[in-house]
Amino acid sequence: MNTPTTAVIGAGVMGIGVAQCLAQSGHQTVLIDVDEAILDKARNAIKQNLRLGALLGAGGSRSPVSEVLGRIVFSTDYQLVRDTSFVIENTTERWNVKEEVYRKLDALCPADCILAANTSQMSIARLAAITNRPANVIGMHFMNPVPMKKTVEVIVGEATGAQTLERSQQLLSSLGKDWIVVKDSPGFVSNRVLMLTINEAIQLAQEDVASVEQIDKIFRDCFGHKMGPLETADLIGLDTILLSLEGLHEAFANAKYTPSPLLQQMVTAGLLGRKSGRGFYNYNANGAGAVGSKTHD
Ligand code: NAD
Repeated sequence: MNTPTTAVIGAGVMGIGVAQCLAQSGHQTVLIDVDEAILDKARNAIKQNLRLGALLGAGGSRSPVSEVLGRIVFSTDYQLVRDTSFVIENTTERWNVKEEVYRKLDALCPADCILAANTSQMSIARLAAITNRPANVIGMHFMNPVPMKKTVEVIVGEATGAQTLERSQQLLSSLGKDWIVVKDSPGFVSNRVLMLTINEAIQLAQEDVASVEQIDKIFRDCFGHKMGPLETADLIGLDTILLSLEGLHEAFANAKYTPSPLLQQMVTAGLLGRKSGRGFYNYNANGAGAVGSKTHD
């Protein structure tokens, strides 16, 4: 194993996908999380994704599964970021979590290392201000599932340097990704719109204006969207949606971002979507994603 030159912090829904893309593109990577059980789960998920991709012929002439997996070190040890030139942070969407992580990364990473935040709505300028390298901090909002989504929303903070943007674009190019650069504003473009849409769809389900399946079907069949808002919520993770809405609510001080009570109840009940096996739909063995398996009343 060579020394990791890139690091992915957080091995949840997004970190798994980002680490997989980096490794598939030949980058030596360390994937860091807080405990071994999460890292074991991440290793298995990446292995499964790579096997499935190989089976479906995705990735063309890409390296065998073992070779790609061999480029990722799964670790709880932050010391492994010491030789990295690029870090993509994907930790839980909570300010206190990210604040601690950026302090740690700033203290350990080489001075010219770039810190890219894959946050859903946080201000890049605010994250940058935690560090002593604000010019090297940028937003890189990957879409889910990362290996399948071609385009990344790149967010340039007040202090983000031109070189940081250029190096970020080079890294994304190496992953085969395109990008759209936007200014720094809570939720950026994507989630300022998407989070409100999902919240309103949840509210519609709560009011029983239509069933969960009908709400999603309207977006798929009438608008031609690939997925409805409630399926999308399950894919993202209801806990992440709730944290994002709370963040937007605080940032804009606007009641329109108040999370739907049903969303809050579901998160409290551990119905987080795909990641927990149940959300608006049931993803457990005998009901995998089955439309019609409404999980709330
Ligand atoms: P997740 O809850 O699935 O995973 C977060 C991971 O961070 C967990 O494994 C957790 O253990 C880990 N973590 C927490 N504290 C840590 C620390 N101090 N050091 C290392 N790891 C730590 O969340 P996710 O859906 O992967 O989201 C990660 C980030 O990406 C969030 O900021 C989220 O808003 C953003 N995001 C999510 C999506 C999505 O569709 N889920 C899309 C784009 C961006």
